[in-house]
Amino acid sequence: MTPNDETVGAPIDRGDETTSDKDGLALHTKILIGLAVGAIFGIGSNFLTASNPGANAKVMWVAKYITDPVGQIFLRMLFMVVVPLVFASLSVGVAQLGDLKKLGRIGFKTFAYFILVTVLAVAIGLTLVNVIKPGVGFSPEVQARLMETFGKEAEQKGAQAKSDQGFGINTFVNIVPRNPIDAAAKTDMLAVIFFALIFGIALTLIPRDKSEPVQKVLEGLGETIIKIVGMAMQIAPFAVAALIFSTTARFGWSVLQSLLWYAACVIAGLLIHQFVVYPVLIKIFANLNPVAFFRKVTPVMVTAFSTSSSNATLPTSIKTAEEELGVPPQIAGFVLPLGATMNMNGTALFEGVTCVFLAQVFGVQLGMTEQLIVVILSVLMAVGTAGVPGGSIPLLMIVLDTVGVPPGGIAIILGIDRILDMSRTVPNVTGDLTAACFIARSEATRLKAGAQASAE
Ligand code: ASP
Repeated sequence: MTPNDETVGAPIDRGDETTSDKDGLALHTKILIGLAVGAIFGIGSNFLTASNPGANAKVMWVAKYITDPVGQIFLRMLFMVVVPLVFASLSVGVAQLGDLKKLGRIGFKTFAYFILVTVLAVAIGLTLVNVIKPGVGFSPEVQARLMETFGKEAEQKGAQAKSDQGFGINTFVNIVPRNPIDAAAKTDMLAVIFFALIFGIALTLIPRDKSEPVQKVLEGLGETIIKIVGMAMQIAPFAVAALIFSTTARFGWSVLQSLLWYAACVIAGLLIHQFVVYPVLIKIFANLNPVAFFRKVTPVMVTAFSTSSSNATLPTSIKTAEEELGVPPQIAGFVLPLGATMNMNGTALFEGVTCVFLAQVFGVQLGMTEQLIVVILSVLMAVGTAGVPGGSIPLLMIVLDTVGVPPGGIAIILGIDRILDMSRTVPNVTGDLTAACFIARSEATRLKAGAQASAE
């Protein structure tokens, strides 16, 4: 297949189609069915057993002994491959790009895109929260009740924020790992990325007869891991149903009721970013048909929604980018691991909205300058957020502290954070895919010329 308005390059065929199956039902359709089934049963049993502790205990038993383990096995299969995949795909990606000038150009474009689109996301969030003002006139009784229920959890997150030591010069120093194995064991993604980048660059600088075998091994490793992701995706429909059941069956819907306008602000912002901003970007910068794009990335979106983790979704993103969207492996291998770690549009939007909402609740006036600080900090913190469930909360507390909102106030929103986390992780990963498509399209002719030159 040649590039058209559905792909940015020739898709890789690994012989395990994710979009269509022997029985005719596409994998993404099965995953969506899993999502719906999990949500219907989870929400249904939550409501039906709300006033019946005996029945509720049975539902919790099912969650603990059946759906949690199924979901966890899927999650672990994805997490298990993240570090080797990032290392293999990033170092090979850099080595295949060949020269540092090219790497610099692509790196610059990638970071510029990440930052600009993240700023746009925060701007959307801040506009909504300033217009809707969900925190103005917030009931003091509800506030006190939420602070009491979730205060302890907030304290724990605060302690974590302190031990992270905030955002400073050490944030940059720590990107360089003392020991790459230790960084890998701790899933310290920025450090793993740094090591992989340096390794890839060094590969381009040593004689070809030495670098080629290493590159071949890494390519084989990458392929093998993508195969494992394919295996994991086969259980995705069941696992997604299980994960969604566990979350919705336990969820405190009454808490959502008292925070309805705040949640509406966050979700409306995320929806605008996901379904208005991205389609425009994908059309203008990657010349792709947005409908086809969303159809192809559905498994990625559903994986993000059900796992609440950009890291866990990264393997699926890379597979989809290469096999469905036709993004060349060297671009997917470079842009997507960086994006999963640094490009979190949904998280930045959420942080901006939450900060202004809590300021409204606590009666803290945030003028133009303070809101500008909120934008800058939300972008920076989103870059530093780990791609795991709830990864942004400790960093969000630092933003709150900086602009004079009590960080403990985070307790007010913790009760509904899981749903918001699932929702913001979707634009987090979709944004990475739009970036990969943009870079692939903008580099298409250069890559083709490079491939021809090396074949000659
Ligand atoms: N769960 C988000 C992610 O992995 C991070 C966060 O916003 O807490 O992308």
